[in-house]
Amino acid sequence: MSTVTQPDSVAAPLTAYRAAVVHEFGAPLSVEMVPAGQLTAGQVRVKVEATGLCHTDIHAAHGDWPVKPAPPFVPGHEGVGIVVELGPGVTEVAVGERVAMPWLGYACGTCDHCVSGWETLCEQQKNMGYSFDGTFGEYATAYARYVVRVPEGVDPLDAAPLTCAGVTTYKAVKVAGTRSSDLVAVFGVGGLGHLAIQYAAIAGGRVIVVDIHESKLDLARELGAEFTINAAEEDPIAAIQELGGAHQAIALAVAPRAFEQAYGSLRRGGTLVFVALPADNDVTLPIFQTVLNAITVVGSIVGTRAELREVFALHAAGRTTVIRETRSLEQVNEAIADLEAGRVAARVVFEP
Ligand code: NAD
Ligand code: ZN
Ligand code: ZN
Repeated sequence: MSTVTQPDSVAAPLTAYRAAVVHEFGAPLSVEMVPAGQLTAGQVRVKVEATGLCHTDIHAAHGDWPVKPAPPFVPGHEGVGIVVELGPGVTEVAVGERVAMPWLGYACGTCDHCVSGWETLCEQQKNMGYSFDGTFGEYATAYARYVVRVPEGVDPLDAAPLTCAGVTTYKAVKVAGTRSSDLVAVFGVGGLGHLAIQYAAIAGGRVIVVDIHESKLDLARELGAEFTINAAEEDPIAAIQELGGAHQAIALAVAPRAFEQAYGSLRRGGTLVFVALPADNDVTLPIFQTVLNAITVVGSIVGTRAELREVFALHAAGRTTVIRETRSLEQVNEAIADLEAGRVAARVVFEP
């Protein structure tokens, strides 16, 4: 008589996992089982430990932007987790490593943008949680070349917000060109803004913060903002001009009016960085004043893998603080409602 034993180490292949799914723009997300699918060349499967709720996920779920995702889809692009499976040909990461899965989920690697340090402008790019399924699930599939290792000493719950809110504002401060003693006006202290304050200060800037919720201004002061302005109560343009005008303004509030106020808050020669992406896509800026005052207006889109490594290194060195509250994925719709109403201190992080 012979016995057949099954080795413990061979786990059954993953066929399905729980995820938050957008079925229809503007409708609540549904937490349900989704098929896992086979990995193709260059892909890895990651068991998600933490995934932040970025306002971009809300824009995705609402179909707010000119280029829309195709429901059904799983949002999420601040995912952090452990690699559990490698697709054909993967050599860049190993099973067991902790990685971050950012918005830039894939790029071609060979176009002019990719080879000049601007992979974020690649026309072949695919975006996590937008053009393919994202990280609002127990597992996610990512491209090995576009995940970023999370170093030892960075808590995965902190790494999640750093993966979009962190790298985006780190990049925006670089694009702004902030130098020591510059006055930097940060409009909007949400997930992005609370980190923008810290990167502007690291660059040597003196930070002015504008928001419409008093609790956000309190947090901003704790994180190093020197001046705070409640735009629901006073005119931020007048208040900032009284301080001499901002060398740089960074627009992170999901409201076109805040972009116009950010513009108006600049001193001559100043730079306005567009980062937020409100559904209402238009702002009005004056030509005459832009020319005569030599104003720069520049867009800034997330950041590269190299910049995300820099963001993690700064955090591991104790230079940044991530303000986050954890929730289960089942609370996704409640979390979205809270974020839209200004009831989230800075970032919600789901633990699937
Ligand atoms: P959030 O909701 O956490 O933060 C927005 C903040 O703006 C809130 O604190 C809110 O109180 C404040 N606000 C709202 N109206 C205001 C007003 N009129 N004046 C001043 N403050 C106001 O959102 P988030 O996750 O930080 O994202 C912000 C925006 O950035 C979103 O539109 C998102 O899609 C976009 N985004 C862009 C990039 C990029 O690469 N460019 C990357 C990530 C997110
Ligand atoms: Zn490319
Ligand atoms: Zn984001």
